[in-house]
Amino acid sequence: MINLLWLKGGACGGNTMSFLSADQPNIIELVQDFGLRIIYHPTIGLEIGEQVKEILNNCLKGRIDLDLFVFEGSVVQGPDGSGTMNIFADRPMKEWVQLLAPKARYVMAIGDCAAWGGIVAVPPNPTESTGLQHHKRQKGGFLGSAFRSRAGWPVINIPGCPAHPDWITQIIIAIATDRIKEVELDQWGRPRTFFTTFVQNGCTNAHAFAKGIKGGFGKRGGCLYFEAGCRGTMTHSSCNRILWNRTSSKTRANHPCLGCTEPGFPHHDLKKGSIFKTMKYLGLVPKELPYGQSKMSFFLKALMR
Ligand code: SF4
Ligand code: SF4
Repeated sequence: MINLLWLKGGACGGNTMSFLSADQPNIIELVQDFGLRIIYHPTIGLEIGEQVKEILNNCLKGRIDLDLFVFEGSVVQGPDGSGTMNIFADRPMKEWVQLLAPKARYVMAIGDCAAWGGIVAVPPNPTESTGLQHHKRQKGGFLGSAFRSRAGWPVINIPGCPAHPDWITQIIIAIATDRIKEVELDQWGRPRTFFTTFVQNGCTNAHAFAKGIKGGFGKRGGCLYFEAGCRGTMTHSSCNRILWNRTSSKTRANHPCLGCTEPGFPHHDLKKGSIFKTMKYLGLVPKELPYGQSKMSFFLKALMR
């Protein structure tokens, strides 16, 4: 049996929705077949008020052995570092995070906001939000680069806006079945098994990308990189290998990938006209090239098509 505590900071709740939609296994199966004990979850927990505080304090005092601390949403530090913009169970949520994280065998940041601040940390960042162990592309975040959980692990980042339910449940299962040592993390704390290949792997438009055939938002038969700002060539994620709802993905539905599993997300600071549009120099040359390609090799390939 493993004890899981889930808390939410500056969050829309999308990752909880994703988790609740898990189906292979679903949450009931996680509980019944994998021995998951959800000691508290803000959406599905029945406890309120003092009962929640008691659970949290029992974790702090070691009366509950905290195996997995899951955090969803940003760590809100505003105003002026006080964290009082996000009070939970009578204290700033950031204090609960600071106290509970070292008590947990493993800490998981679910979604971009928990991993590196996400949309809520976009400048001017009025809530002073940050991620658990990263702030955008900077290492450190709220807990600091040196943080390690009781089992000696850094924060396990499961990014995404939201994270795919399988990415969440498979890591929970790895912990529950004591196979987590087989999981390798990349430089951003992401499990390599989900975040080594690119969104483009398995995209049904990949042939159009290779031939330079331009596609449009929602239109079949072309690639969205050239005009619609698709980041599938530079985003590490398994969205076209582990399909959403076992059915599809953004790019299979001809919606550009927004690059939501990368620490820079949201890219371009959400400036007007920067979304769903390929940014170009002089309106001609894409500013961001497919991962690992130099400008020269990209244009030579384009000329040879
Ligand atoms: S639509 Fe996006 S993911 Fe698909 S081939 Fe084009 S750039 Fe790659
Ligand atoms: S396709 Fe891109 S934006 Fe969509 S979920 Fe996957 S990584 Fe995120």
